[in-house]
Amino acid sequence: MRLVIATHNEKKGGEMRTILSELLPGVELLTLNDFPKVEEPEETGTTYSENASIKAEHAAAHTGEWCIADDAGLEIDALEGAPGVFSKRFGGEALPFPEKMVLILEALNGREDRAARFRCCIALARSGQKTEVIEATCEGQIAEEPSGAGGFGYDPIFWLPELGCTMADLSAAQKHEISHRGKVLRCFADRFPGVIHSR
Ligand code: IMP
Repeated sequence: MRLVIATHNEKKGGEMRTILSELLPGVELLTLNDFPKVEEPEETGTTYSENASIKAEHAAAHTGEWCIADDAGLEIDALEGAPGVFSKRFGGEALPFPEKMVLILEALNGREDRAARFRCCIALARSGQKTEVIEATCEGQIAEEPSGAGGFGYDPIFWLPELGCTMADLSAAQKHEISHRGKVLRCFADRFPGVIHSR
């Protein structure tokens, strides 16, 4: 059995591959880097679910394989859920992450209500089959300042109160144990063989 992780993003694809390789031994895991001609589609959806489905279905149509894609974002309660589904484009897509994080810290300057969460949807698609979508979250807060060099994206400002550190302070294995992506992929792995063989 083969499964294509529908991203060219090495950080995200690497996380998904690491988590899935433990959960689905015997499944050959590929990414879009194995299909260099297949580009990622524009994320034109207004929800994580729509964007994950767009990415998975596009990859499925162009590879002929079972494909899995995720769409994730950071939701900050004090900013009414922003940046949310626009997390990648917050402050402009070209703005580097350290500067995106500065924008967020400035917006929350002096605020005590710093509750936030990562939300992640994954979609499983194959041409001619109904796309399946699963969602999970990881609750936390926005830190007062960035910390840590692990993970990617907004991890350095995502504070985990029970652990007393940011997501970027964790090792990869620790992150995967508690993260939105780890949770949603474990849920997916429980259902994955059933989803495919029931068709
Ligand atoms: P997308 O799912 O590729 O559209 O990503 C949305 C945005 O959220 C990107 O800018 C990512 O960097 C960010 N993001 C997604 N997952 C994580 C994560 O696990 N940690 C930190 N940032 C993330």
